Amino acid sequence: MTEHGVVLGARGSIALEEIEVGAPGPGEVLVRIEATGVCHSDLHVIEEDGWGHPYPVLLGHEGAGTVEALGDGVQGLAEGDRVVLAWKTACGVCSTCARGAPRQCKRPPAAAGRLLRSDGEVLTPVLRSGTFATQTVVPARAAVRVPRELPVEQACLIGCAVATGVMSVLETAKVWPGARVAVIGCGAVGLSAIQGARIAGASEIRAIDLDQRKLATATQFGATHTEPGPVDFVFDVVGRRSTFEQGISLLASGGTFVLVGLSPGGETVELELPKLFAKRTQILVSHGGDHLPHEDFPRLAAWALDGTLDLAGMVTRTAPLDEWSEAFDAMKDGSVIRTVLSP
Ligand SMILES: [Zn+2]
Ligand SMILES: [Zn+2]
Repeated sequence: MTEHGVVLGARGSIALEEIEVGAPGPGEVLVRIEATGVCHSDLHVIEEDGWGHPYPVLLGHEGAGTVEALGDGVQGLAEGDRVVLAWKTACGVCSTCARGAPRQCKRPPAAAGRLLRSDGEVLTPVLRSGTFATQTVVPARAAVRVPRELPVEQACLIGCAVATGVMSVLETAKVWPGARVAVIGCGAVGLSAIQGARIAGASEIRAIDLDQRKLATATQFGATHTEPGPVDFVFDVVGRRSTFEQGISLLASGGTFVLVGLSPGGETVELELPKLFAKRTQILVSHGGDHLPHEDFPRLAAWALDGTLDLAGMVTRTAPLDEWSEAFDAMKDGSVIRTVLSP
């Protein structure tokens, strides 16, 4: 059987190509991808000249599928398991992991060199995942088993948007019950942050977006207001100068600003330090909500199954893998919450 993947070439060319997928090495697993969300970070990779990934790049990092083969020494997984792929696992040995902070691991492990172009060139999978493909190979710890009852189109969202949004609220910011929260940018990650704020027991959840359609959707996911107002926490899922400045201006005394969205290269802001000092403003950076896949994915999947989290409502379009280009267009024009591709 020939395998396929969406490959970004050095001069910005993107195409669905035949790829070669090698057998998993020791500690690795081969996963057949059954669903992959189209996330903004893939667009960021395209627009920011690979975003540090050596070319050619295999796109996609929000995937779920079935384990098809196990490398030597893999424990805790079996062929046929439904898994969500994790781009932010902990290595267990870096200085951050060693001091007991695996959620901030500096060197998430990757499977090396298993994915090739048909001419033998080694592909770099986006965020060590490479899910715009029929198969991929990842470290076993980057494949987290979830119940098969959760539809795979929903399960894949746990791998990035849902983990990032929900865990930015629960883990990075540790929003307390009764807190007032604003979320700037109401796409899939923003709606996940809104759901996280609802789970945390926030008393007010303000959705902020330039797109009226997204504000209407946000109220269905738990937003209580659709206009700015004073808050204790701001989650900036956009990451532009304008959203940063707006977010800082909304914070009450002792408030916390959380930068979640990826900014374009070179983006800068100016801060008035006396004001920051007087208001005791805190600024945090969230890398994917500091999620730890083995702890958080099963919990998020359970919440999806018991109705605490609405994932079904976030999958507004499904399409075959060869419609990746239309999926990026739909994301850019804001006509979808999430497109999920089915390789
Ligand atoms: Zn993502
Ligand atoms: Zn580490």
